[in-house]
Amino acid sequence: MKRVLLLLPTTGYRNEDFLAAAKKLGVEIVAAANYCHQPAPSWGLAPIMALHFDRPEQAADTVLREIGGNLDAVLAVDDSGVELAALLSERLGLPGNPAQAVRRVRDKLAFRQLLREREFLCPEFHHLPTGEDPRKLFPELKFPVVVKARRLSASRGVIRVDDFEELMRAVNWVRAIQSRADRDARDLGLIMESFIPGSEYALEGSLERGELTTLALFDKPDPMDGPHFEETLYITPSRLPEALQDCIHEEVARACRVAGLAAGPVHAEVRVNDQGVWILEVAARSIGGLCGRVLTRSLGMSLEELILRQVVAEEPLTIAGEGGAAGVMMIPIPRRGIYHGLEGLDAAQSVSGVTGVAITVEPGQIIAPPPDGATYLGFIFARAASPADAEMALRIAHRRLHFDIRPEYPAMEAPAAERH
Ligand code: ADP
Ligand code: CA
Repeated sequence: MKRVLLLLPTTGYRNEDFLAAAKKLGVEIVAAANYCHQPAPSWGLAPIMALHFDRPEQAADTVLREIGGNLDAVLAVDDSGVELAALLSERLGLPGNPAQAVRRVRDKLAFRQLLREREFLCPEFHHLPTGEDPRKLFPELKFPVVVKARRLSASRGVIRVDDFEELMRAVNWVRAIQSRADRDARDLGLIMESFIPGSEYALEGSLERGELTTLALFDKPDPMDGPHFEETLYITPSRLPEALQDCIHEEVARACRVAGLAAGPVHAEVRVNDQGVWILEVAARSIGGLCGRVLTRSLGMSLEELILRQVVAEEPLTIAGEGGAAGVMMIPIPRRGIYHGLEGLDAAQSVSGVTGVAITVEPGQIIAPPPDGATYLGFIFARAASPADAEMALRIAHRRLHFDIRPEYPAMEAPAAERH
C-alpha cells in the first residue's frame, strides 16, 4: 500500500475531498496538520499535528524526527502547505518541485523579478519595504497602480489605486492586512505594480516531468478592474480562439520551466490584451476553495483523486471524462458582517443546469469581501451544453440567493435626551 503524508490545514476546504480520494484509491494517509501548537499537545495530538506550515525548515525537522522515511509522497491540500511539502519531498528524495522554486513563485516580488529577467510581458513593479514612505516612489509611478501583499492569495491585500491619495490609503490598508495574515510581514514589505488592462483567464494544469498538461482553461467573464478583485465566475471551456488558448498554454508552460516547477498541480492566472498574454501568477497548487469540483465530470474523477493518482501511479494518467461546458461561481460577499443565514437555496438549486450550491460559512461567522477577507461564502456549480448557458445558469441561481449579513455591532442609538 502506498503511503502519502498529507498536509491538512485546519481551515482547509478540501480536506474531505482528499481523504475521500485516498480511501477510494486505497492509499494510506499519514496526516500532518497545523493545529495551534499550544492546545494540540494538550489534546494528546502527535507533534506532526501542530506544525507551523509557514516555518517550513523547522516543521520539516519535526516531521522527519517523528515519522522518519517510508513515504511515497508528500502533498499539501492547499497553498499554506506547498512550501513545506516541497521541502519534505526534497529532503526525503521523493518526486516533487524544488522547494526554492515553490518559494519563488509564491513571492509576488520574486516572481515578477523572474518574469522580467526572462523577458516575459511584465508590468513595471517596485518594492516598498516596511517603514519606507511611499512618497519616495511617486516620481516613478504611472497610475493606475496595484498595491499588493507579497504572498497572500484569493485577492487578499490587493488594491488598485488611481492617484497618490488613494495610494497612501491603500498602502496603509494592505500593510495592516499583511501584518495580520503573515508572520513575516515586516521583512516582506509590499509590491506595487502597474495595472494591466485586459480580460482574465485561469489555467488549471498538471506538470509531469516538466511537461504541462492543461486540464482546463477558464474564462473569467466578470470584469476585474478593481479597486478590489473579488473572484466570481470561472467558466470552461474558454471561448477564446484556439490560437490564443495555445498561446496561454505556451506562456504558462514557459513560466513553469523558468521557475523550475516540474511536477504536480499548477494554477495560473493571465491577462490578455492587444500586447499579448501577461502572466499574473503561477502557483504550484491546484485551484482554491471548492472550485476544483467543477472539473470532476470532465476529468472523469475528482481533481484530488487525479493529484493523488499522479504521485502514486506507476504509469502516466489517462484522462477521459465527459465533454460539455461547466462553471463555478465563488459567491461574492455582499458586505462585511456576521453571517446569519440565507434564503432561496432551493430556488437556486432548481435552476436548470445548476448541479449544486455549497455554502461554506457557518451562521455566526464574520465574513468580509477582499481585500480584507479570507473566507468564501460558498460556491455555485453548473453544467450545460455551452459556456454561455453555464454562465447564465450561475447568474440566475445567484440572483435567487439572499444572504442575511448583519453588522458586527448594532448601530448605536442616540440617548433619549438627544432625540427630538
Ligand atoms: P492573489 O494571489 O491574491 O490571487 P494576484 O496577484 O493574483 O493575487 O491578484 C489578484 C487579482 O488582482 C488578479 O486576479 C487580478 O484580477 C488583479 N490584479 C493583480 N495584479 C494586477 C495587475 N498588475 N494588473 C491588473 N490586475 C491585477
Ligand atoms: Ca491570483
